[in-house]
Amino acid sequence: MQQQARFINIGERTNVTGSARFKKLILNGDYETALEVAKQQVENGAQIIDINMDEAMLDSKAAMVRYLNLLAGEPDIARVPIMVDSSKWEVIEAALKCIQGKAIVNSISLKEGEAPFLEQARRIRRYGAAAVVMAFDEVGQADTKARKVEICQRAYHLLVDSVGFPPEDIIFDPNIFAVATGIEEHNNYAVDFIEACLDIKRLCPYAKISGGVSNISFSFRGNDPVREAMHSVFLYHAIAAGMDMGIVNAGQLAVYDDIPELLRERVEDVILNRREDATERLLEIAPEFKGDGSVAEKQDDAWRSLPVNKRLEHALVKGITDYIEQDTEQARQQAEKPLHVIEGPLMDGMNVVGDLFGEGKMFLPQVVKSARVMKKAVAYLQPYIEAEKSGGQAQGKILLATVKGDVHDIGKNIVGVVLQCNNFEVIDLGVMVPCAKLLQVAKDENVDVIGLSGLITPSLDEMVHVAKEMTRLGFELPLLIGGATTSKVHTAVKIEPHYQHGVVYVPNASRSVSVVQSLISQSSKADYLARTKQEYITVREQHQRSRPGQKMLSLAEARANKFQLDLTRVASAPKQPGVHLWTDVDLQQLRDYIDWTPFFMTWQLSGKYPAILNHPEVGLEARKLLADANAMLDQMIGSKRIQGKAVFGLFPANSDGDDIIVYTDESRSNERCRLHQLRQQLQLRNQIPNSCLSDFIAPVSSGVADYIGAFAVSTGFGADEFAAEFAAAHDDYNSILVKALADRLAEALAEFLHLKIRREYWGYAADEQLENEQLIRELYQGIRPAPGYPACPEHTEKGTLWQLLDVEAQTGMQLTESYAMWPGAAVSGWYLAHPDSKYFAVSKIGRDQLVDYAARKGWSEPEAEVWLAPNLND
Ligand code: SAH
Repeated sequence: MQQQARFINIGERTNVTGSARFKKLILNGDYETALEVAKQQVENGAQIIDINMDEAMLDSKAAMVRYLNLLAGEPDIARVPIMVDSSKWEVIEAALKCIQGKAIVNSISLKEGEAPFLEQARRIRRYGAAAVVMAFDEVGQADTKARKVEICQRAYHLLVDSVGFPPEDIIFDPNIFAVATGIEEHNNYAVDFIEACLDIKRLCPYAKISGGVSNISFSFRGNDPVREAMHSVFLYHAIAAGMDMGIVNAGQLAVYDDIPELLRERVEDVILNRREDATERLLEIAPEFKGDGSVAEKQDDAWRSLPVNKRLEHALVKGITDYIEQDTEQARQQAEKPLHVIEGPLMDGMNVVGDLFGEGKMFLPQVVKSARVMKKAVAYLQPYIEAEKSGGQAQGKILLATVKGDVHDIGKNIVGVVLQCNNFEVIDLGVMVPCAKLLQVAKDENVDVIGLSGLITPSLDEMVHVAKEMTRLGFELPLLIGGATTSKVHTAVKIEPHYQHGVVYVPNASRSVSVVQSLISQSSKADYLARTKQEYITVREQHQRSRPGQKMLSLAEARANKFQLDLTRVASAPKQPGVHLWTDVDLQQLRDYIDWTPFFMTWQLSGKYPAILNHPEVGLEARKLLADANAMLDQMIGSKRIQGKAVFGLFPANSDGDDIIVYTDESRSNERCRLHQLRQQLQLRNQIPNSCLSDFIAPVSSGVADYIGAFAVSTGFGADEFAAEFAAAHDDYNSILVKALADRLAEALAEFLHLKIRREYWGYAADEQLENEQLIRELYQGIRPAPGYPACPEHTEKGTLWQLLDVEAQTGMQLTESYAMWPGAAVSGWYLAHPDSKYFAVSKIGRDQLVDYAARKGWSEPEAEVWLAPNLND
């Protein structure tokens, strides 16, 4: 499972040759719906989308260009790389001209010989694109392992040595062919592919491997369960051999371990070519699995008649707390010492949970519920154990903390629970933990590992600081890095070089277990750290090499290419200007505005709501989680434990260069404050403007009266206390649930308030009627960019917003020294109403803009470097 996590899914539905529906949409000119197809792919987990317009009835080049230009306007889709799929070079080249981000060409090969191959590679290189290289040469398509390896190696050397093609931009497709076709020569095709992967990875450093997965099961058309099983078994082995990505329908992949054993074994015989009669034996049982085949979970109490140790195990695995005290008591009476109940049956049960989770057979919400059972049992035993102090049976001690200036801790809390489930002792220092305190506790408690967490970008710098301090103070403990804005690249490039005793990026709670286990065991620690260090050196090299791709304009050039605002469509004056306050928001009505998809992501259940509720693997868990969430919302809202507040205002405003001036009144003669914005400086193709939020506001010089809004909302009042009560009762599940739901309500409040602004307070869209689903897709006029997010990434601007609305006095919401908002369940931002205003990412800026920005803010240059660190191109 952990290997599968790194696998990249390439969406395949935007292909006229592969999807009848997409073909029809394109032929009918329904690009609007065709765009939806791409969007759904991304929402369903595609990390790259393959686009193919090769259809005889179509002007493929025109269709490709039109579709790509439409895609570029959809931030949700434009954030994933595009794979341009065509057998016609002119289509590929036309596509490369209009793709802004990283493009991937699918594909080139040695089919026509070396000269055209090299020529195409050179041109691709000029566009900074990556290329899929088919294992195809003058003789034909490679079928055996030897031919696959030989052709890929030859192509690799041609590309790298003659063209200077970056090896990490080469993606080999060594051809996946159908097996179990009845033709004997085909039987070894999967093995040939898998074994070729191993060699290609070894012989062609940095190159990637991809393939069209559904080919493998072609002979089982019409029997989807068998096909899905074949895909999943094939991938299981191919990924282990080095396959990095594949064209695959992510929604239709069986989980390896969920495949019924009989089917899995026979499929594996076929894929691995383990016996001569493998095909016949699979054909023999295939009809049994046709149709849905899923097994509903049965509820029964039969487990109550098991022996007590088995009952404890069952309760742990199923997360049932109903009988835990009575069962624990019975186990205690039978045990020689109370401690033995923990070390024996309870730990055995948790080991089962840990294994199932590690293997991808249990999901995060279930694990957290198991932890609750464990903690309640331990709490019950505690008074009996007290006398005979246990001491040191844990695997190791982990110190966790959210860094100074940051208040977000849902992810960190989940990691803590998961580690505890795996028998690690966790010391959790909570949020906003200063470095000195953290390191003091690490010393006093003699911990084995430190784990840092953070959500907002300034926390990244604080992590660098902690690493430097650990070096200065002579620490030798490994340091783990996690949280939403952290990444392997950031960890390798910015943090790891400052500390020599191990810095490891941990992408999620599931991974934390294996990482910590490797670091605790004295036998594996040194080796693990050495491997990680090596890996981060490679990551740094790749990062270094991948950078010159996009050209940076000077600030002056970027400004000359600003977005041109249509001054005839500036929104009308607000109906209710000035500042407004809601002190006791009706939380019940917000429930209709909740976007549930991110909630499931928090619990590592990925898929779009509501479709996720019927997902073949996670659907059942998703439904249970949603039921628990709704029950908790009833409690949070009904008991008034949680309160929501909002302050917002609408003001006269005009832009002045990259600043936005907010005026005290309609005379527009006095500045109330200035909002300092950043401008995109990377060169964009196709005359796409270099945007800055100020471009969406009419300039002072135009004489046009324009306006801007500001808002700060929170539904987190009372949430920390309520969550803490659950935590104190050993119920992390509900504690985390409270925080995750407070976050959801805050986003829902931001959505609801924005709607009220458009329809009433500002009133520029008085007649708007949109469903929640359409609101989530932002189909309305105007935007609400949030400081700290890509269009306005500099966090201190929240300080200006706080002053403008007097947020702290009005609501009690505060800003930390890193400009994180407290309470954590909070959203703030600006309202821009122009119909052409849209979200974008400032991304990298040059030193010239940093200097200019520092002058506008009244900062020294080093001060500007601190706040602009994530954006500065250095
Ligand atoms: N429905 C989602 C909404 C939050 S994400 C949820 O419930 O979680 C979308 C919000 O993030 C936007 O409304 C905007 O405030 C912010 N945002 C997204 N992209 C942005 C960008 N490029 N620049 C600034 N803010 C952005």
